[in-house]
Amino acid sequence: MPNGTDEESGAAMSEADFLRQLQRTFEKLPNPIDLYLISDKTRDDVFTQTNRQIVRAFRELSDRIHFREYDISHDFARQWEVDSAPTLLISPDRYGIRWLGAPAGEEGRSFLEALLMVGMGESRLSEQSKKVMQRIEDPRNVRVFVSPSCPYCPQQVVNAVKAAVEKPGLISVEIVDIQSRPEMADEYAAHSVPQAFANDILIAQGAQPEEVFVSSLEKMEPQTIFIPESDAERVETDLVIVGGGPAGLTAGIYAERSGLKAAIIEKDALGGQVALTPVVENYTGFKHVGGKTLVDIMVTHALEYCQIYQGEEVVDIRPGNPISVVTTRRKFESRAVLLATGATHKHLGVPGETRFSGRGVSYCATCDGPLFRGKRVIVVGGGNSAATEALHLHHTGVDVAIVHRRDNLRAQEFLQRNLRDNGIPILWNTEVKEIRGKDLVEEVLLLNNRTGEETVYKAQGVFLAIGYVPAVKLAQAVGAAINEDGFVQHDGRHRTNIPGIYTAGDVEGGYKQIVTATGQGAEAAMTIFEDLINPYWHETTDATESGAPVSG
Ligand code: NAP
Repeated sequence: MPNGTDEESGAAMSEADFLRQLQRTFEKLPNPIDLYLISDKTRDDVFTQTNRQIVRAFRELSDRIHFREYDISHDFARQWEVDSAPTLLISPDRYGIRWLGAPAGEEGRSFLEALLMVGMGESRLSEQSKKVMQRIEDPRNVRVFVSPSCPYCPQQVVNAVKAAVEKPGLISVEIVDIQSRPEMADEYAAHSVPQAFANDILIAQGAQPEEVFVSSLEKMEPQTIFIPESDAERVETDLVIVGGGPAGLTAGIYAERSGLKAAIIEKDALGGQVALTPVVENYTGFKHVGGKTLVDIMVTHALEYCQIYQGEEVVDIRPGNPISVVTTRRKFESRAVLLATGATHKHLGVPGETRFSGRGVSYCATCDGPLFRGKRVIVVGGGNSAATEALHLHHTGVDVAIVHRRDNLRAQEFLQRNLRDNGIPILWNTEVKEIRGKDLVEEVLLLNNRTGEETVYKAQGVFLAIGYVPAVKLAQAVGAAINEDGFVQHDGRHRTNIPGIYTAGDVEGGYKQIVTATGQGAEAAMTIFEDLINPYWHETTDATESGAPVSG
């Protein structure tokens, strides 16, 4: 016999083995699997026929799979709110999982996984993912756009199906084949696959690791990293870093690399202001990078070294040996604490600002810009933030003007040139006196502070970019000295006046650039390392009684 025939019979044997194994697996499933195909008798298209073939193949494997077909005009279709054909429902009385089109080609893999999960009644999510899923309390209708020839799609489909099996009451999933439903893909502008939406909000482009998908589903926005959670109630460490911006993340990397054990605590989103910066063009090595992308790179790097505790707030710091740091989730005992708490955006303080916050008033063009596409907005401020945000809004398709209280900008010349080149108007010597509207922002009352003239400017959005105030609350609570500009005072090597408490980044003032913040974080970590080896507060100098000698 020629070799070819031997190989063929070998392949046939292994396929037969695989099918037998699959049969055994299906026989052991505790739950039956009910498949319902909703078809359209007036249009027996290739997708409908493919569904029948696929289901027939699976039914031959196991009598645990039941199948019925109904026409779209039947009451059954109405009962399950199916309004287009073909749609394949999987055990709809238990789960909200349906295929719009057919689970053909690459999707055969995810269909098999879906059947097994439904049959087992188990999502097979990791423990970390289950913890995130527990936090989801509102319904999510997930739509994953796929195509049969996309090798990445099954991974994202399986993620979504796992979520639907984990929380059947809250999560439903529609897997949409873009070839079967091109009009739906157009409506969602899903021109690449896979793309996942939850309650019509884009949560993922491309396939994600399971934990990242679940995190995107929880936060209802695309995530690129997942930070594992810790259950520990008490953590002993060398260094607690409060703040997960560029300074804190860099300090974590430097501290761990020098042999210290470091924990980074961040109550909000990681990255601080950088995460809200549309585009960064002056961080060495990156000519043009999205702020959020840069943050993700930094966080991924820091995670290589240290644990990040995100979503918990430091509520108390007690100096001592060890220093006790209490958060809303646990207690840390540490030899040193680095305050890298950054800064928070300034408020204008005019009537309407608070009332319309989130209803037209925004402090984040990156986050809210797309909602104003085709609309008219103003950006208030004359610094780098105002210029960067106005450019971002302009490129997003927003009709934007800058309102600035003086007759020249403090933004870098490069950005000013960019504003001119893009024809972004600037209303000079102009102040916002009031933000008005009914439910949403409709107009702004402006004052020309040279002429005293007041005008009503029609705008649906007001983006405030008027600077930041340092977040010194914790520093003050621990007794650290604050300088006359409102920043944490330090000795030039990032030591505050309290032994063991250090500072870095925007909270200590300086140029407030990403590159300077990372530099300060690195310097602070090196000072801390040296001090922990040879504590300056144990020396018999004047500094011993009152902490480190402090200069402005
Ligand atoms: P900023 O540089 O402090 O500028 C704030 C702007 O808002 C100033 O033009 C200021 O006007 C105006 N302003 C302040 N209070 C106001 C009020 N009550 N009413 C009206 N206008 C008011 O703040 P930023 O632009 O947010 O930047 C903060 C820091 O981050 C800076 O160090 C900046 O260099 C840095 N940053 C850098 C980049 C970059 O390098 N690409 C991007 C963003 C931010 P006056 O000019 O009249 O004072």
